Amino acid sequence: MSPAHKIGSLIFCPTCGTLLDLPKDGEVDITCEQCAYVEPASSYENTEIMTRSDPDAFPSALRQKRKTQTKRHEGGDRGTLVSEKCPSCGALEAYSKVMQLRSADEGSTVFYTCVACTHGWRVNN
Ligand SMILES: [Zn+2]
Ligand SMILES: [Zn+2]
Repeated sequence: MSPAHKIGSLIFCPTCGTLLDLPKDGEVDITCEQCAYVEPASSYENTEIMTRSDPDAFPSALRQKRKTQTKRHEGGDRGTLVSEKCPSCGALEAYSKVMQLRSADEGSTVFYTCVACTHGWRVNN
């Protein structure tokens, strides 16, 4: 029996919602850093199977994020016009350019330029 919330291989504290650490070798339980709730380490068994069989277990916020990055049409040199909120003026469209600054293993960095105020910012994938 486990009251903890599982999302894929992650387990969240049922009391305060904090992401619990993975149990270390030999540990029989994990203690929540925020509220001292104790979750048995056995809750982590079989989480790999859950990840494969239940893709809907992922938070909808992650899928929403992926959706907003879908490109709509090419914007030439400035990049691809996407639905992305400008942190400076709040405009809902920006040009995006993907830069492979880091190694392929670590993903890429997306540079955004606001269509309204030309404010620039970047997001690491
Ligand atoms: Zn907690
Ligand atoms: Zn802006």
